[in-house]
Amino acid sequence: MTDEPFALAPRRKSRPVYVGDVQVGGNAPIVVQTMTNTDTADAKATVEQIARLADAGAEVVRVAVPDKRAAEALPNVIRDTPVPLIADIHFDHRLALASIEAGIHGLRLNPGNIRDATKVRQVVQAAKERGISIRIGVNEGSLPPIPALATGELPPPKTQRMVDAALWEIGILEEMGFEDIKLSLKAFDVPTMVTAYREIAKRVPYPLHLGVTEAGTPGSGTVRSAVGIGVLLSEGIGDTIRVSLAADPVEELPVCWDILKSLNLRQRGATIVACPTCGRIEVDLIPLANQVEEHFKALGKPITVAVMGCVVNGPGESRDADVGLAAGKGKGAIFRKGEVVRTVREDEFFTALLEEGRKVIVERFGEAEAPGEASTVGEEVIALASATSRTLPGRAARRT
Ligand code: SF4
Repeated sequence: MTDEPFALAPRRKSRPVYVGDVQVGGNAPIVVQTMTNTDTADAKATVEQIARLADAGAEVVRVAVPDKRAAEALPNVIRDTPVPLIADIHFDHRLALASIEAGIHGLRLNPGNIRDATKVRQVVQAAKERGISIRIGVNEGSLPPIPALATGELPPPKTQRMVDAALWEIGILEEMGFEDIKLSLKAFDVPTMVTAYREIAKRVPYPLHLGVTEAGTPGSGTVRSAVGIGVLLSEGIGDTIRVSLAADPVEELPVCWDILKSLNLRQRGATIVACPTCGRIEVDLIPLANQVEEHFKALGKPITVAVMGCVVNGPGESRDADVGLAAGKGKGAIFRKGEVVRTVREDEFFTALLEEGRKVIVERFGEAEAPGEASTVGEEVIALASATSRTLPGRAARRT
């Protein structure tokens, strides 16, 4: 046994691309993205949702462009979006062309349903002229048909079909000298998705967009996404992530951020350490933990707050946090930066944590904001993994 902490594998080197002013791949921080579920033709509703998604931590947002109405609304959506947008295209390459014409920042094409190489080339040519990156988005639910098999020949495994679909389209793009490529190979089944990403990661240098497709409702979908994305990130694979939940897309963003925070890859807002409580507990801890989480998350500052129920693990966790409580019967010790700074009554726990937390925030970040004034939450993004990364342009630079 060793005391060395578990170390993530070194990040796979990928060729950087841009979506608007957001760098994906290379040594950029892992980018958080999601997708709207409004009718894109309703520009007002779509822009409003994009703004909510950006506030919740989305750095890139994808919008579906399923028809001409949606494509026609894009100029208005693009004009008012606070973050770069990707047009999600299936079946009809003319919608990709229209999206490029509208000024979209990036495209997602599905090689499973735009199978005519001539049409793909038209899109690539237009994207090249505008400097737009393309994600080749393979999905296990819409793979190209299996070619005719010889008698007795078995169909290739699904992971191979996913990799082959990506390579087919990469070939077309590369033939045209186009390398502003991202890739995704999403599956609902986590082992399938992990295997497909591992394989493509060895074969090509392009940034990878990770996701478990149709992951499910917030409970099980969160776990499934965290396992699939987490395994790959721990192996150094992945440049941008999207968690797909059957829910308001705003709910996907805390999950994305918690995955990155769990691996110490990025930090956003407060991290709350809270004990699960057990038979030793002598205070009403769970409501306090929720209240503390709500308050510090609203402040948006990346500090760690421990809310612990007794002296078994309380002092240790509280000492390691920026601010902490180790509660006992009717009173508790408040820690700040590893030291006990006061002992307070149970009815003072919340206030004392807030006061000490505020001192840490003021010392580290300047003036703390009151909850409800946290308009700069989205700016409080610290890219731990890219502390040594080179300067990024635009928004990405401000966030690093
Ligand atoms: S910190 Fe104490 S109360 Fe909380 S779970 Fe651990 S032993 Fe139980």
